[in-house]
This record gives sequence, structure tokens and C-alpha cells, in this order.
Amino acid sequence: MRIIISGAGIGGLTLAYWLNKYGFDVVILEKATVFKRQGYILNLKKTGLQILEKMGVKQDCDEYRILFGKSQIIGQHGELLKKLNYEKVNELSESLIINRSDLHKILFENVKDKVEIKFNKSLKKVNQDVSKVNIKLNDGTSDTCDLLIGADGFESITRHLVFGDSFKKFLGLAYFAFIIENQVNQNLFDKQQEVELRGLNCYASCGTYLVNQSLSLREIGGFFTYKVDKFQPIPPDQRKEHLINKFGQYSSYYRQVFDSIQAHDFIYHNELTQIEMPTWSKGRVALIGDAAYCMTLMSGKGASMAMAGAYILAKKLAEYQYNSSGYQLAFKEYEQVLRDKIIYLQQQGVKVSKLITATNYFSYILTNAVVRIIPQSLIVKQLINLSNNEFDIDDLISAKT
Ligand SMILES: Cc1cc2nc3c(=O)[nH]c(=O)nc-3n(C[C@H](O)[C@H](O)[C@H](O)COP(=O)(O)OP(=O)(O)OC[C@H]3O[C@@H](n4cnc5c(N)ncnc54)[C@H](O)[C@@H]3O)c2cc1C
Repeated sequence: MRIIISGAGIGGLTLAYWLNKYGFDVVILEKATVFKRQGYILNLKKTGLQILEKMGVKQDCDEYRILFGKSQIIGQHGELLKKLNYEKVNELSESLIINRSDLHKILFENVKDKVEIKFNKSLKKVNQDVSKVNIKLNDGTSDTCDLLIGADGFESITRHLVFGDSFKKFLGLAYFAFIIENQVNQNLFDKQQEVELRGLNCYASCGTYLVNQSLSLREIGGFFTYKVDKFQPIPPDQRKEHLINKFGQYSSYYRQVFDSIQAHDFIYHNELTQIEMPTWSKGRVALIGDAAYCMTLMSGKGASMAMAGAYILAKKLAEYQYNSSGYQLAFKEYEQVLRDKIIYLQQQGVKVSKLITATNYFSYILTNAVVRIIPQSLIVKQLINLSNNEFDIDDLISAKT
């Protein structure tokens, strides 16, 4: 059976690995011409880690683990609200914080010699009948496959062409995220001090929540979210200036970080919007990951669930591969296993987005008062619980099918 996957991201590469392992003929179409080191950090917990382990790449990922040390939460005038020590969280939780690019590179290296990956390719047209899917590509060529899987992320072209465009649920927030060369701490701190100052979270009024992390002596990551009525994309060459004007006032440290952003650095800017679809498949086409059920980074599980979707779908396709209408059963059961979990995580994502961004000055003052009073041990316990509450992937599949 020939399966074409649109998108060589976290979910697409995981799916390709498993489909290849089960003996399917797999081709991936990827829009990018090359992969650049862009993006932010991911926190993978039990489910994602189990899948990496099964793929034999967990140890490689561990080498790129980012260890948060001590962190501070400060208010918008620089006042200290809370000190947090992540060492207990690191020690007691089943979680791996990793740069998305590092995870992506490991997944790519793991499949690049096993399946064909065609770069600079994007779907233009999709037509399907009972026995085949016919596609046309951006370069004018055509191809045919038995199944087409869209793993092409939040702005999925597969979703657009096959399912339509009415599945976006805007959460009223936009964000910037970047990882750049660390030119700030390098000069200021020695290694030990730098570890102590890994995190600086600033919670500011007017719907703004900022996080800035020194990831290592080499890199600094920044993540800034803010409330908007309607998302207005800002052109890449204006984003640095926008960050300075909008957030530079909150801390001289932020200002230094923004000033050190160079012309070649990529600042990610997007809306926080979930994808909610009544079904993740249509005929011989199915979607996985952000394309089907984007939960936004507010859930903290996007990568884990993209990998879970890939793992479940591949397993089900393998299970029913000798059945004439096997793919229909596989699509149905893939959704049956995962849908409840996704609905729950999307609901949680909406709650978190409301909690972390103050909608007015009163809620800002109230939340800061709670942050000051709440004991550190309680926050640490909550972080550990959040890390350890994911499901065992094979148990879930057995329980649901
Ligand atoms: C700042 C930030 C922080 C995050 N934090 C977390 C976290 O803590 N934990 C977590 O689990 N997740 C987190 N996420 C989310 C996570 O990165 C995504 O949810 C996850 O990567 C989804 O995987 P995917 O395979 O569906 O999509 P992606 O990994 O986005 O891959 C999509 C792929 O499709 C390609 N593509 C796009 N359009 C086309 C096209 N037309 N044709 C062909 N290819 C195409 C893209 O180039 C890309 O390679 C975070 C995301 C961001 C931005």
C-alpha cells in the first residue's frame, strides 16, 4: 500500500517511521526547501517519551535535555513575585524539555534513509475515488496513492483542500517565540550563576505574559503572548522593533535580549487558535497532529499528541492492512482512541490561556497576589502532577478498541 504524507514535522516524521516499520510504501511531501533551526522549546511527557523510546531515539533526545534551574516570576515593574526552583520538578517528573528543532532533527535523521522525503513540494489539488487518491503538486506534477495523510500543521493544506476552512477557534491571544544566540548572559555570568538564572518569567498587565529563558550558555529563548481582538500578522523584518516597543519596558534584561536579535534570527509570530473538527478523516484522506486537532502551546502537549496520533494511526493501519476496507476501520479506531483525550486537552488549553493573561488591571493585581501567597512547594507539586498525568499509549489503545 502506498501512503503519501503531507508534512515532515514532528507528527509526519513519526508516522513515516512507524508506517515504514510496518512495511508500507511511504513518501513525504515537505513544503520547506531545507529545515532551519527555528522555533521554541517543547515539554514532552510520558506519552511522547514512550513513543520516542519505542523508536529507539529517547537517549539521543536526552542528550539535548534542557534543565531548568532556578527561576523567578516578576511583576511588570520588576518586583519579585515568586522564586521557583525547578530542580525538584526535574528530579521527580517524567518530562523532557527540548528545543523543537533538536527533536525534529533527531526524528528526521531517524527516517531520512528509510523513506523518500521530497522537499519544496506542496499539494495543489486532491481528488479521490473509491480506490485511489490523485494529487497535483505545486511544481505541476501529479501522483497517486492509496491513502493521503495530512501532517502539515496548523495551517494544513490537506485540511484546506479536502475538508474546508471552518474549523478554527481563536483564543484571543497572539504570541512571539524565538531562540537566538546568547550574547547577553555570556558576558554577564559564569556557568554556575547562569544555571541559577535560567528562567525569568514576567507577568504583566494588559493581557501580557512573558517568559524568557536562558537555555544554555549558547542560546536564549523568548516567548511573549498578548491579548488581541483580531490577529494582525507582523512582517518578519518588523518583529524585533515590535518586541522592543511592546515589551522592552518591562525589564532592562528583556531590552538587552531584544537588542541582541540579529537580522538572520527568525522570530515566530502567530495567533493562538485551536483546530476543532467533527471528524479527522474523509474517504482515503486523514489528518494527524496540529492539522487535525491543534491544541495550541497552552496545552503543552502538541508534540506529544502529534506523535500519539501518528503511532495510533500507523498501528491501526498495520492491524487492518489485509482487510479490503481496512483503512476505514483504522481511521475510525484511531479517532476512537484519541478524540476524548484531545477534547479534554483543548478545554484545559482554554482555561490556561485565560489564567495566564490578565484581561484587566484588577485581574492582574489579583493573580499577582495569589502568586505571592501560594507556597512554592504547591506550585512544584502541581508541575510534577502535570508532568506525570499522561497516559500509557498501548494501554489506551487496548482500552478503547
Ligand atoms: C512556542 C511554542 C511552544 C510549544 N510548546 C509545546 C510544548 O511545550 N509541548 C508540546 O508538546 N508542544 C508544544 N508546542 C506545539 C508543537 O510544536 C506542535 O504542536 C507540534 O509540533 C505539532 O506537530 P505536527 O507534526 O502536527 O506539526 P508541525 O511539527 O508543525 O509540522 C508540520 C510540517 O508540515 C510542513 N508543512 C506545512 N505546510 C505544508 C504544505 N503545504 N505542504 C507540505 N508540508 C507542509 C511544515 O513545514 C512542517 O514541517 C509548541 C509550539 C510552539 C510554537
